[in-house]
Amino acid sequence: MMEPDKQGEKLKKLEIAYEATAREFLETAPLYKRIAINLLQQTVARCFPSGISKNCYQCKEIRTFSLKGYRHFFRERLDVTTKIVDALGPVGYYFECGICTTQLVFTILFDSEDIEKIAAKRPLATKIGQFPKDSILPPKSIRDNLNTSGQRLWSQGLICEKNGLGIGAFAYYRQIVEDEIDRLLDKIVAVVPEGDRETFKEKVSEAHRANRASEKIDIVKDFLPSSLRPGSYNPFASIYGALSGGIHSGGTDEVCLGLAATVRDSLEYIIDQVRQQTDLADKFVKHSHILLGNSKKDK
Ligand SMILES: [Zn+2]
Repeated sequence: MMEPDKQGEKLKKLEIAYEATAREFLETAPLYKRIAINLLQQTVARCFPSGISKNCYQCKEIRTFSLKGYRHFFRERLDVTTKIVDALGPVGYYFECGICTTQLVFTILFDSEDIEKIAAKRPLATKIGQFPKDSILPPKSIRDNLNTSGQRLWSQGLICEKNGLGIGAFAYYRQIVEDEIDRLLDKIVAVVPEGDRETFKEKVSEAHRANRASEKIDIVKDFLPSSLRPGSYNPFASIYGALSGGIHSGGTDEVCLGLAATVRDSLEYIIDQVRQQTDLADKFVKHSHILLGNSKKDK
């Protein structure tokens, strides 16, 4: 049997999911995860930034929300319903969308005894509430490009991410890659510059014959056109890296949360870019036809 103190220490370490800045904590941290946060200042009134970026429920866009106020729910120590005994009690923070004035409320529990001043510069804090909840609607580029089943998997992945269930989120996003990769590779062929297209087509045919998404991506990743590789970032290499790690290496929820976000971001980037570049090429061809038709008429 482990001594109670040591067990407590171990539990405490396990509970500290990860560290975050004050901004990251509000913008992205899941609910009910006890996180070490780097506060701006140690007072309840000034510990968070005055503006954060969140998806606005009303505007259906990412907006800047300004901090409008805060409120203590209880001005006593909280010692019954939670394992956190030295808390100043939940504090509600009110933000407002800069465009439509929709309110966004967070309820935060700090591990601190002090009522006005938060005892530590990097206290442990838990987001125990948020209203309205984060949207689980996939972004527009995903809604336009994935079928109903793909969109459902995306939303399930988002729900898992918001609740800190990294292994689940990773599994949902990996399933989307498995389902979509062949179709996505065919679409990419159209945006590869003409000089490189034949080589890429051959790689895609080879990839179609492979069984798993990770094998397919490994075959094509080094041949991805530069228009789909911003700077030195290769979204396929990132997806490949995440898929090769993940659950098979015994990843924890915390590790998988990072991998899930990598797969989601990279997939969203590549799907969105392929759509934009295809649209642009179509538009150009249409305009050229019109111009060509007009110049023939002029003659
Ligand atoms: Zn708004």
